[in-house]
Amino acid sequence: MIWEELTRQLESLSEDNLLRQRKTLESACGTHAVIGGKRVLAFCSNDYLGLASHPALREAICESARLWGTGSGGSHVVNGHMGPHDALEKALAGFVGAKRALFYSTGYMANIGVVPTLVGRGDAVFADRLNHASLIDAVQLSRADHRRYAHNDMAQLEKMLSQSGARRKLILTDAVFSMDGDLAPLKTLFSLAEQYDAWLVVDDAHGFGVLGQEGRGSLDYCGIPFHPRLVYIGTLGKAAGVSGAFVAGEDTVIEWLMQRSRSYIFTTATSPVVASALLASLELVRNGEDRRRHLQELIAQLQDGLKDTRWKLLPSFTAIQPVIVGENEAVLKVSGELQRRGIWVPAIRPPTVPKGSARLRVSLSASHTGEQVAKLIDALREMP
Ligand code: PMP
Repeated sequence: MIWEELTRQLESLSEDNLLRQRKTLESACGTHAVIGGKRVLAFCSNDYLGLASHPALREAICESARLWGTGSGGSHVVNGHMGPHDALEKALAGFVGAKRALFYSTGYMANIGVVPTLVGRGDAVFADRLNHASLIDAVQLSRADHRRYAHNDMAQLEKMLSQSGARRKLILTDAVFSMDGDLAPLKTLFSLAEQYDAWLVVDDAHGFGVLGQEGRGSLDYCGIPFHPRLVYIGTLGKAAGVSGAFVAGEDTVIEWLMQRSRSYIFTTATSPVVASALLASLELVRNGEDRRRHLQELIAQLQDGLKDTRWKLLPSFTAIQPVIVGENEAVLKVSGELQRRGIWVPAIRPPTVPKGSARLRVSLSASHTGEQVAKLIDALREMP
């Protein structure tokens, strides 16, 4: 029977310790979460600034629902584009210093919407090997030649660019890598894009709100001003604490996306209440210097606390602090042991990360306290 193969494949995933298991949360996931009636200290959320439960955002949603209702009722290009969506796009473009921005429902949709709209068959995409899954899917959808360079290896990228005869070239990278927490060499990437007349598309899912002046993101952090060949993607379900994403760039690029990007056009516009919450969130992000400073203190505390232990942290100065464990079984054991001690740190396994590099993905938030991070350090230090 046609489904028997699936049963076998599921059994094989289970044997390899690769079966994903979701947990149903009985509370919001802030610094703590309630799972199975038990309250645990959580280091797993991408809510890096601790805004996801902020009263101002809750209030903005209630007020917006009273004014606009709950659903947009259609695509942005037909009847679903409402006042809050428009105001949000303008605010986001101004915030990151771009000419214009386009609001997508999720980061995944933004990524699969952008790449195939800029390049196609006969073109080439030069992509970091550790790029997020949504960027990998985006290239496949585009039908462009997928050239992958070793993580942050600029010499290899340059060689590939210099040998390429592709009609159009696009360099594609995470700004902050989602499972490693390190930063792409954006300045060099931009120079290479200039030198070889390529687009540079940057996915700043984990930098927006966290890095740069007022949290404007990784380009600002690296001192790169907007330029017509730059396409910036920021997601809004992480530091911004709500959901959605935006693409910022030159007027022509954004107009082209609006005309052609399938994941923008052929989907119902996100609820206007989400856009209203994001407008409120943007103000908190902009004024979030204290939050960002506290987050940096927690990062330093964790790194210091695990120095000279058997736990190897990857070199990251962002909220993503991965502890490499290696094998799938071993990482599940460590994560399970932490859970028994009332601490939730997710175990990340292949195919999300390369084989043999399974890890704990510790994600810190400005809403954590120093005492909570100390608890995690102690638990890891005491682990056999
Ligand atoms: N890009 C990166 C680098 C990500 O880590 C993620 C989500 N983990 C996404 C894009 C997708 O964003 P969203 O969750 O808004 O779909």
